[in-house]
Amino acid sequence: MLINNDTIIKDTDPLIREKSKDVPLPLSAEDEALLRDMLEYVRESTVPEIAEAKNLRPAVGISAIQVGVPKKMTAIVLKDEDGNIDTEFALVNPKIVSYSVEKAYLAQGEGCLSVEEEHQGYIYRSARIKVKGYDLLTDRDVVIRTEGYLAIVLQHELDHFRGTLFYDHIRKDAPFYEDKEAIRIE
Ligand SMILES: [Zn+2]
Repeated sequence: MLINNDTIIKDTDPLIREKSKDVPLPLSAEDEALLRDMLEYVRESTVPEIAEAKNLRPAVGISAIQVGVPKKMTAIVLKDEDGNIDTEFALVNPKIVSYSVEKAYLAQGEGCLSVEEEHQGYIYRSARIKVKGYDLLTDRDVVIRTEGYLAIVLQHELDHFRGTLFYDHIRKDAPFYEDKEAIRIE
C-alpha cells in the first residue's frame, strides 16, 4: 500500500475513531505486506531526503487504522541521535497486560500523523507497562516491559486500536495541569 501524508487518514475522517479487530495468525500475505509497508513508512519518515521525496511526515509509530484498515497492527521505530535504529517493532495484536499506577508525560506533548492541528497540553500515561503480542520482525510472541519514551509511544499507538487520539487525554479546563507525582520526560 502506498503510505504517505496524503493517504494517511486524518481525524477529520470518522474512520479514525473505528475500533480495530484482532488479526488472525499466522499473518496472511496481505496483512504482512501492509505491516511491512507501515514499518517502512516509519523508518523512512525520519530520513529528511526520503521524507521530502516521498511526502512523509516524521513519525515514531503508525497503526493500521491510520491507513484506513481497522486491524490491530502497529509499527514503531525509535532512532538514536545519529539516526540509527535503536528499537523497532512490527506488532500484531499487542495488548497491555499491566500498567504502573505511576504516570509519566512528555514535556513537549504528543503529535500524531492523523492530527494536523496543534493540540497543546500534557498527556498522562502509565510510566511503566508490559505489552504482549506477536512481533513480525523477530517472528515471535514477545513480552515488552518498558518505561520512558517507548512506554508512551506504545500507549499512544495502542490507543488508536480503540479509536482514541492523544488529545482526548488533555484536560480541557487545564491543558498544562501539572501532576507533581508524574515523571516528566524531556
Ligand atoms: Zn497517532
